[in-house]
Amino acid sequence: MIILQIMMGIIGLALLLLLAAVIRTLLIPKKESTYRPDPDPERAMEYARKLSEMVRCDTVSVPDGDQREKFLAFHRVLEKLFPLVHQKLEKTEIDGNLLFYWKGEKSDRPLVLMSHQDVVPAEGAWEHAPFSGDIEDGKVWGRGASDTKCSVMAFFQAVEELLAEGYIPPQDVYLSSSCTEEWGGEGCPKLVAELERRGVRPWLVCDEGGGIITDPIGGIHGNFAMVGVFEKGKADVKFTAASEGGHASAPKAHSPVARLAAFVNEVETHPVFRRRMPKEVAAMFRTLAPYAGFPLKLVFTNLWLFRPLLLKLLPAISAQAGAMIRTTIAFTMMSGSNACNVMPQEASVSANMRFIPHQGMEESLEIIRKLAAKHGLETKVLDANDYTEPVDIRGEAFLHTLVRNEPHIRADRGLLWHHIAGVRSAHHRKGNRCPDHGACLCADPGKHFQ
Ligand SMILES: [Zn+2]
Repeated sequence: MIILQIMMGIIGLALLLLLAAVIRTLLIPKKESTYRPDPDPERAMEYARKLSEMVRCDTVSVPDGDQREKFLAFHRVLEKLFPLVHQKLEKTEIDGNLLFYWKGEKSDRPLVLMSHQDVVPAEGAWEHAPFSGDIEDGKVWGRGASDTKCSVMAFFQAVEELLAEGYIPPQDVYLSSSCTEEWGGEGCPKLVAELERRGVRPWLVCDEGGGIITDPIGGIHGNFAMVGVFEKGKADVKFTAASEGGHASAPKAHSPVARLAAFVNEVETHPVFRRRMPKEVAAMFRTLAPYAGFPLKLVFTNLWLFRPLLLKLLPAISAQAGAMIRTTIAFTMMSGSNACNVMPQEASVSANMRFIPHQGMEESLEIIRKLAAKHGLETKVLDANDYTEPVDIRGEAFLHTLVRNEPHIRADRGLLWHHIAGVRSAHHRKGNRCPDHGACLCADPGKHFQ
């Protein structure tokens, strides 16, 4: 009898919580993403041509060798495309990396607009040649068109147009563009050192990360600007299994390949890393909730109730969703002996790891090292760096970047944002209004500024 009463009580409480969640959901007015690309064709084409010319410069950057000449050639293109920037701003070139200083009315809250000029090598088959810069189907095609010559373009073009209007920014502005970003070279650190030398402490750094995403999650329709607010840490790790080798005709138990396979299998089939919803991800879900249909809106509006369920479901929904809530590991390379009938003396598997703030580099590596040791494997960390601290999403600097709708840009947000938003939407998605905003976790927010 008592058990029955307790059960009834639990069911009653669950129903009450659900009712509260439903009422909360119904109280939130539905929103619709109204941003649709609607470009001024002439302006869009002018931007496309400029971006295309930038894409046509091969700026592939690799770790070894001096590539300064290649970047100096790219700088000459920038000089031609953005003459006012080069006339009016103070330019500093450090080994191919660029820093432009635009003096504002004040210097206490300097703004750094950061991009990189280099691109990764273009391998494989391409629909349009990687350095063609073809303009087709409303797009500029080629390596670097979105990563990140489009940022170089948006920042430089915005400043160019403002200079033409005689605008003086309320605060100092720096355009910073490195040429070794893709392989984590010394480009950006050199620029940071230069700013430090000048005693500049940036108030806001805008770097690559995110973009305008159409239909970001199943059931949510429209265009949303995803703003990257931190970057996960990463490491390349090699796991090695050794043995005395021998002949395949008399295999011993626990061969190197079998141990590696057991290890990989355990990592892939067990929740090795802790799942937790970062507050930035929760904020993104809450922002997207009003745009969702009822079931999803119910979940996103009431994370206090559905968070545990969501943590279970997200990795199953998509790899991207799963990566937002935990450290990840992806096995990428394997090697063993070089003949079918030879047992390897040593076999290895390599992996790429990405660390989340709630389980950073040290803890995640320790977990994986222990697990590898359990399977008799040696772990070697080839290269590693920890995550960057997330941007304060309630902070004044971050809120300053959220321009919800171009016609409503408040005067204090400044013309600079207005222009950058205009340039980005016109050449990128070809619209002249800014879309609605969410927040996401996929970027590079000025990681060298700590
Ligand atoms: Zn990039």
